[in-house]
Amino acid sequence: MLEVGSHTVLDHDAIVGLLTTAPAEDLYRRADQVRHDALGDAVHLRGLIEFSNICRNDCLYCGIRRGNLALENHVTA
Ligand code: SF4
Repeated sequence: MLEVGSHTVLDHDAIVGLLTTAPAEDLYRRADQVRHDALGDAVHLRGLIEFSNICRNDCLYCGIRRGNLALENHVTA
């Protein structure tokens, strides 16, 4: 596992280990429990209108995250 900021993320070996050693049904059940704990059973629809690509957060999967220093920022006036 890796520590990135305040987040603990699984590294490649940990992900491969989970996917190859745990029965798929266990992973599905655990994922469903995490989803249920976070969101319940309601359906959440979200949308956004972007007027800027500047973000203070650093979500690792996101191309416009704070840590992406290669990104050219813009704000629509
Ligand atoms: S880093 Fe990306 S995904 Fe995370 S809050 Fe900002 S815009 Fe959203």
